[in-house]
Amino acid sequence: MGWWQRWKDWHEQRVRARHDIPSELWEAVLARYPFLESLPAGEREALRALSSAFLARKEFTGAQGLEVSDEMAVAIAAQACLPILHLDLSLYDGFIGIVVHPDEVVARRLVTDHDGVVHEYDEWLSGEAMAGGPVMLSWPDVDEAGELAMDGYNVVVHEFAHVIDMCNGEADGIPPQPSLEAQTRWIEVLDGALEAFCGRIDAGQPTLLDPYGAEGPQEFFAVAAEAFFVNPRPFREYHPDVHALFVDYFRQDPAKR
Ligand SMILES: [Zn+2]
Repeated sequence: MGWWQRWKDWHEQRVRARHDIPSELWEAVLARYPFLESLPAGEREALRALSSAFLARKEFTGAQGLEVSDEMAVAIAAQACLPILHLDLSLYDGFIGIVVHPDEVVARRLVTDHDGVVHEYDEWLSGEAMAGGPVMLSWPDVDEAGELAMDGYNVVVHEFAHVIDMCNGEADGIPPQPSLEAQTRWIEVLDGALEAFCGRIDAGQPTLLDPYGAEGPQEFFAVAAEAFFVNPRPFREYHPDVHALFVDYFRQDPAKR
């Protein structure tokens, strides 16, 4: 290890120490989210260290006069770091800013159809992740994530799944893979699951996952990741192949907590 790396490590440790999340605040935040509260002691501490490092590297901004409290920042950091708990924080190096909105955000969209006609419409968003950032989140959706977990919804996990996906180019449902073999398997399993999922929706059958996942592979990955982390046992039952794929990829099995 060269002196530069040692200096950087030392510097990071100092920054981290300054930003270390106080125990009381950490426990209070975890208690509000059943999928975090169920973490065993070792993983709770690892998540706290990772979340502290995350807070040291990211910048929070409140939109429309919203003040981002410590509780809010820690709640976002903890949920954002859950997917990468056994991976690496560098997966989030592609952006710095997190913008927290007091409510859902209306985004003006333009689409051009096959005839070249441009259509304009409004879309209500609870979150959005763009290449290079910032990540946008609606606070009420983050705040209610404890109750929404039963339905497999989690806006933070959803947007950060997109961030991981965008590490290797545009969001396409294929996050960085350790090998070509792993990538081939990933595409095979996810494509098969998405096809079956779209089939159920077309047939009017109920689905465990948010039907929004049928928008494309990138949304299917994000929606499946939400359920994998916050509603893990039903997800394992309904999507055993994707569950096994994610256990390998994220190096953790939330269904066993
Ligand atoms: Zn999405």
